[in-house]
Amino acid sequence: MKVIYLDNNATTKVDEAVFEEMRPYLTELYGNPSSMHYFGGQVQKKVDEARKRVASLIGAQPEEIIFTACGTESDNAAIKSALEVFPNRRHVITTRVEHPAVLTFCRGLSKHGYRVTELNVDSKGRLDMDELRASIDENTAVVSVMYANNETGVIFPVEEVGRIVKEKGALFHTDAVQAVGKIPLNMAASSIDMLSLSGHKLHAPKGIGILYVRKGVPFRPFLVGGHQEKSRRAGTENTASIIALGKACELAESHLVDENVRVKGMRDRLESELLRLIPASRINGGGAERLPNTVSIAFEYVEGELILLYLSELGICASSGSACTSGSLEPSHVLRAMGVPFTCAHGSIRFSLSRYTTDDEIDTVIRELPPIIRRGREMSPFGRDLLKG
Ligand code: PLP
Repeated sequence: MKVIYLDNNATTKVDEAVFEEMRPYLTELYGNPSSMHYFGGQVQKKVDEARKRVASLIGAQPEEIIFTACGTESDNAAIKSALEVFPNRRHVITTRVEHPAVLTFCRGLSKHGYRVTELNVDSKGRLDMDELRASIDENTAVVSVMYANNETGVIFPVEEVGRIVKEKGALFHTDAVQAVGKIPLNMAASSIDMLSLSGHKLHAPKGIGILYVRKGVPFRPFLVGGHQEKSRRAGTENTASIIALGKACELAESHLVDENVRVKGMRDRLESELLRLIPASRINGGGAERLPNTVSIAFEYVEGELILLYLSELGICASSGSACTSGSLEPSHVLRAMGVPFTCAHGSIRFSLSRYTTDDEIDTVIRELPPIIRRGREMSPFGRDLLKG
């Protein structure tokens, strides 16, 4: 069965060119970049090149890039560092729609005497900036607001957030795991102090990420031990994956226009055709600024898991807006924060495209999904009422 992979916000395929770039550094050039000998030195040079490539994609300087193991580590490290930098500030601000890598970490802080504010979003998933202005004060150590949401693709006005944060002298971190490689970012002209990125969302392998820390911003390491990464992140470098990430960032930079034109064109077509063909459907975050590759679409009176199952039988990979917790299907915290009605949130499906997505694949989904939704609705009393119209 041919796989139609439309779950790229969950993870992406490693680009062939990325794999070719990393392969020798697993089997032949396996030296430790910290070693004094020439064998390790060659690897160090390639790590330096990768650092430059990553920096270039986000308009940063190479020294501002710290390689980590994943987006989650970068998120945790950024927030923890800010709290150590400002030991007397006991307030943290984040949003209700963050990825658990930020949200769970922040919620854990409230057990250690910190006050944690979770900013609300409106029905389109847009951030309540007035609430931010009202919440931030001289006791705030760090504000962590994501660049773009993984479920809906809604983009937050992070530069404006950063300017507000600066006025209070706090640090600003953004989780840009879903934004990097999909939209242009330029740290050279930015109010962001720290930014997280994850390799496996942009066609590099899993298990590699970065934390960007602006020059001059104080930083306290999360992992301590050896002197790797200028003592900012201990642990022998994951050299092959770092090199892979460098190549992936170079490719992402060259495909940015494509992502914003061709990929967005396919996403928009998928969205408008599904809305046209399927009654009682709506876009979660529709009307807000969104990533070009993401659509979260709600179909009323049908279970998301059922839709995913039927799609999966056809080789179509997507994800739902529900999380299966302790046997009950709860709508996701993101859709709940947006106030999406339960009847819609349960039937929400996310399609996330990549530069490998083809028009044919989009045609297949447009053809196959309407009868699936119909079948699903036939199974529920409200769904049947809707079909009778
Ligand atoms: N932040 C966001 C917005 C994400 O979408 C993800 C992964 O889904 C993460 C953080 C975690 O990244 P990683 O899987 O590299 O730990």
